[in-house]
Amino acid sequence: MRGVELAATINSDTASRAESLVAAMGVRPTLATVLVGDDPASVTYVRMKRRRCEQLGLGTRHVGLPAETCTSELVDTISGLSHDAAVHGILLQHPMGAHIDERAAFDAVAPRKDVDGVTSASFAAMALGQPGFASCTPGGIIRLLDHYGVELAGRHAVVVGRSPILGKPMAALLLGRDATVTVCHSRTRDLDAHLAGADLVVAAVGRPRLVHGGALKPGAVVVDAGYNPGNVGDVDFDSAARRASFITPVPGGVGPMTIAVLLAQTVDAAQQQLLVQSAISR
Ligand code: NAP
Repeated sequence: MRGVELAATINSDTASRAESLVAAMGVRPTLATVLVGDDPASVTYVRMKRRRCEQLGLGTRHVGLPAETCTSELVDTISGLSHDAAVHGILLQHPMGAHIDERAAFDAVAPRKDVDGVTSASFAAMALGQPGFASCTPGGIIRLLDHYGVELAGRHAVVVGRSPILGKPMAALLLGRDATVTVCHSRTRDLDAHLAGADLVVAAVGRPRLVHGGALKPGAVVVDAGYNPGNVGDVDFDSAARRASFITPVPGGVGPMTIAVLLAQTVDAAQQQLLVQSAISR
């Protein structure tokens, strides 16, 4: 399951929706990025996201803060962006440093601007099946599975990893699609026994080649959300591909979908905010 092609289709739709908003309303959908410190990987991720915004005709606003920024300063910055009508979506890059209360910082993002799907409100919406923005990587994975016609209802999905941005929202979205979901983590006993019964495996761990083909049920669908140094995923691709009916590559699988969903949701957010503004002014 290649994300590159599907992401290109989503990006082209995002660009044309952004252009329509500029033409019809004179408003350019704008994503604000907030980065604390100068972790090289985070700097690269933020730069990639901003560059893709520019390629698709979205506006960007960047706020770089020193590594020693405290939680209350960060919350104030994000609250300011939440109240700024010229900003439609907010991306707070993580990790942010151990001294920062990440939950407080994420929850300072107004839910209507939470295009990265990281607030408690967005998580509740995903868990309850209510309208809201999906976490970008799990949301992108669901779009990829739908695009390839993978049936989810009644299938046994095993999600490996339970982080707030990936494993947990992934499990919530799969449950919302009527899959039977098992969530594994670092304290799980006998991971391979769980994998052996899985129709769908989503690996979201950050451990190179943790999931190997020998543990998989023949015909399983395998999604590798992991990204480790050297372009290595959490799945041992060669052995898993011999067992799987569908599998995502690393790179070119899940990664491009994440940014595509982020930008698509930024335009969604702009459209929704403009609708609310025009309803108020009528
Ligand atoms: P994270 O916050 O470090 O969470 C890792 C999860 O894996 C934790 O829940 C941890 O369990 C679990 N885990 C660790 N070792 C394990 C083991 N041996 N067996 C089973 N579970 C184990 O990482 P994350 O932010 O979710 O990211 C996970 C991976 O996805 C990374 O490779 C990251 O680079 C990648 N990622 C990719 C994208 C993308 O766009 N493609 C986006 C985000 C992240 P505990 O909870 O028990 O500690």
